[in-house]
Amino acid sequence: MGVSVDLDSSWSGPDQSARFHAAEFSCLAPQSTSRTRVLAGSPSRPSAPTIFIRMRKLILFDIDGTILSTAGAGRRAIHRAIVDHLGPEYSADGIRFDGKTDPQIVTELLERAGHTGRVTEDLIGVVCDLYLERLELELKMNRGLVKLYPGVRELLARLTQRSDCVVGLLTGNLERGAYLKLTSAGLETSQFRVGAFGSDAANRSELPAIAAARASELMGRVPTREDVVILGDTPADVTCGSAIRARAIGVATGSYRVDQLQSFGAFSVFDDFSDSEAVETAIFA
Ligand SMILES: [Mg+2]
Repeated sequence: MGVSVDLDSSWSGPDQSARFHAAEFSCLAPQSTSRTRVLAGSPSRPSAPTIFIRMRKLILFDIDGTILSTAGAGRRAIHRAIVDHLGPEYSADGIRFDGKTDPQIVTELLERAGHTGRVTEDLIGVVCDLYLERLELELKMNRGLVKLYPGVRELLARLTQRSDCVVGLLTGNLERGAYLKLTSAGLETSQFRVGAFGSDAANRSELPAIAAARASELMGRVPTREDVVILGDTPADVTCGSAIRARAIGVATGSYRVDQLQSFGAFSVFDDFSDSEAVETAIFA
C-alpha cells in the first residue's frame, strides 16, 4: 500500500508524544481490536511490538449521483414539501438539483414561487422539515428502487478496511436525509465516520473545511490539500474543496460526462466506480 509505518517495540515514558503525534496513527498492536484506536494519553505500556500507521487521507463521498440513485424520490419529496406549503400551482420545472445543498434548493424553489425577499431561515427550516417527512415516506413507498452505482459497495469495503484513512460524507443533503437515503440503499451508515451536510451550511464550498475539522480528532490534525479527497458527480463536487486545495475525483454516474468533470479540474474522473482498485489508487496516488 505504500503507507508510512513506524515499528516501535520500546515505546515508553512521558516523552512518547515527542516521538510522534499519537492520534495521527492508528494502532495495530496485538492487544488492540480497534482499527483506529486513538493513543494520545494512553497510560499503559504495550507488552508487544506495536505498529503505528499514519492516518493519511480523509475520503469524502457525495451521495446522490455518486453513491446512489433514489429514482427521483428526493426530487419528489422536495416538490411535495413545497406544494404542501405553498399550494399546487408551484412548479420546479427547469431547476437543477444536482450539486446543490438542500437549503439552497429550497431557497431557489421558494424564490421561484414568488417568495423573493421573504425567504427567511425559519421558512427554509419549515420546508426542510416537511421535506424530510416526505422523503421518509417516498423511500418507504419505493423500497427497492434506491440503487447503488456499480462498484460503490466494493470501493467502500476496500477503503474502510484500511487503517490509514477516514471515510466520510460531504453532501448537500440534510444530515437526516443523508442517512435515510444510505439506509434505504442498504448501506451501513457507521462506515462513514465523519460528515459535512447541507444542514451544516447552505454553501457547499464551506463543507470541506467543516468535514476536515471534524476529522481532526480521528486524524490528529486538520487534513488539507491532497490529504482530503472529495468524490462526486458534479462540477460543484470538483470545485468545492478548492479553498483547502483538496483533491477531487469525479464520477460520471450522475448528469455530467467525464470530459465535463475533467474540465473543472478533477484529479481523476471515472465512468463509474466498478474498477474500485483504480479508484483506490487515484485516491492514494
Ligand atoms: Mg451528487
